[in-house]
Amino acid sequence: MTEEFDAVLIGGGVMSATLGMLLSELEPGWRIAVVERLDEAGLESSSAWNNAGTGHAGLCEFNYTPRRPDGSVDVSRAVEIGEQFSASLLFWAHLAAAGVLGSPRDFVRSVPHSGFGRGPDGVAHLRGRYEGLRGHPLFADQEFSDDPAVLRDWLPLMFDGRNAGEEVAVTRSARGTDVGFGVLTRRLLAALRSRGGTVALGHEVRAMRRSGSGWTLDVRVRTTGEDSRLRAPNVFVGAGGGTLPLLQRAGVPEVRRYGAFPISGQFLRTARADLVAAHRAKVYGHADPGAPTISVPHLDHRTVDGREHLVFGPFAAFSPRFLRTGRRSDLLRSVRPGNVGVLAASARDNRSLMAYLVRQVAQTSRARTTALRTFVPTVDPGDWELVTAGQRVQVLKMTGARRGAMVGFGTELVSSAGGSLTALLGASPGASTAVATMVDVLAAGFPGRMAGWSARLAEIAGNRSDLADLTARTHMARRVLGLGPDGEGRS
Ligand SMILES: Cc1cc2nc3c(=O)[nH]c(=O)nc-3n(C[C@H](O)[C@H](O)[C@H](O)COP(=O)(O)OP(=O)(O)OC[C@H]3O[C@@H](n4cnc5c(N)ncnc54)[C@H](O)[C@@H]3O)c2cc1C
Repeated sequence: MTEEFDAVLIGGGVMSATLGMLLSELEPGWRIAVVERLDEAGLESSSAWNNAGTGHAGLCEFNYTPRRPDGSVDVSRAVEIGEQFSASLLFWAHLAAAGVLGSPRDFVRSVPHSGFGRGPDGVAHLRGRYEGLRGHPLFADQEFSDDPAVLRDWLPLMFDGRNAGEEVAVTRSARGTDVGFGVLTRRLLAALRSRGGTVALGHEVRAMRRSGSGWTLDVRVRTTGEDSRLRAPNVFVGAGGGTLPLLQRAGVPEVRRYGAFPISGQFLRTARADLVAAHRAKVYGHADPGAPTISVPHLDHRTVDGREHLVFGPFAAFSPRFLRTGRRSDLLRSVRPGNVGVLAASARDNRSLMAYLVRQVAQTSRARTTALRTFVPTVDPGDWELVTAGQRVQVLKMTGARRGAMVGFGTELVSSAGGSLTALLGASPGASTAVATMVDVLAAGFPGRMAGWSARLAEIAGNRSDLADLTARTHMARRVLGLGPDGEGRS
């Protein structure tokens, strides 16, 4: 028996869940299936403890505001991410108002976002970032200070007991958020089910192949070994670290030369009540001079399952698995005749990144505490435990100059067979911008339908070309979600 659908979405993470709900809004009559190999959705990268839960909106991340060679700061990427996060807020608010997401407080809370500049260079970078963004309405509430008394008031855990001679500055936006992407994923999928969608848990897609103008998928129930087939004219592969292997097995030509390299993240975590109470913020620092941008440290207040914690990191670690629940042979099995060249070129052309990763993997707990001390001068290592977060599978591909580049710090949208197959590779900025990214998937997968869908999409996810309208609607969405710059909904 082959079951027929209008669209099949592989993987039950935040990306497929978002796409499923967007499709259910646009085409209520469509038969949509989400297929997830684990017994519950949102347990891989989208799970709360497998990511940092930051609602990335460009409010605090130095890596979205690089310095130009003349020292000025380019804020265009932060603005883009701010606008993309607005699309997420608008869509969540639309669904919350329709009563299908439960209480928004279960998955999104106000937590101020701060940038933290250290040393003359870091402070100049932060000031340039602040100046560049302050005229934009989505960043209008940002504050900047290098006054020790203000910093102690904003962030007591970081600035009580700090050496007075250190040059530091902080920006602060009360519009920041902490997001439980795992809960959000499960709420979105429950809503999809309630609208008649199929969510098949414990079902693994083993293979897929072109059939007619669509795709046939071989699916196995993991507990019983029972096999079945699904067919659909449109398939989205949102299988996280499982995406590239599936595309490789299907012989998708667009990824023939792609390689992948997994990097897992680790965080130091504490639940000590007085520490948590003294740091109600997410604070992002900058990379040390010469270090790669992925080394950006941050100290985050998190609320997961109603319990408050602080987490600090990430520290890079190595595992050859492409999913947390993947196999040790994943990396080896991804090596193909078509991508050996890019793997070799990546090793050759990313030596400083490789050296950084090796140093990180070899890092001692004393070195991790030293890194934490730059944020928490009074740290007692006994209060913090090391936890392993999710796997990031970085995409490797040749750039124009035939150099091997790691592109996985951004996301890579693959479209094949006239858009009948779309797939998402890479990880950043990730879950926060899922709505905008899935609108891009719709454009790639359904080019002929976008003109008919655009008015409804603007209604439910906003229109980035009308900034005044986007800003006003973001403000309304925040109220619906119980968030507010005035502190409403703060955890
Ligand atoms: C350390 C770390 C920190 C991060 N911090 C943040 C952050 O602060 N903010 C942010 O916005 N983003 C963050 N991210 C990124 C974010 O977590 C991801 O972008 C996002 O969760 C990806 O969602 P997804 O749906 O693509 O993948 P996933 O959530 O991994 O979902 C993929 C699903 O596919 C399933 N699957 C795999 N293979 C198959 C198959 N063959 N058949 C069926 N199912 C399959 C898996 O079991 C999994 O459930 C972070 C990531 C990491 C690793």
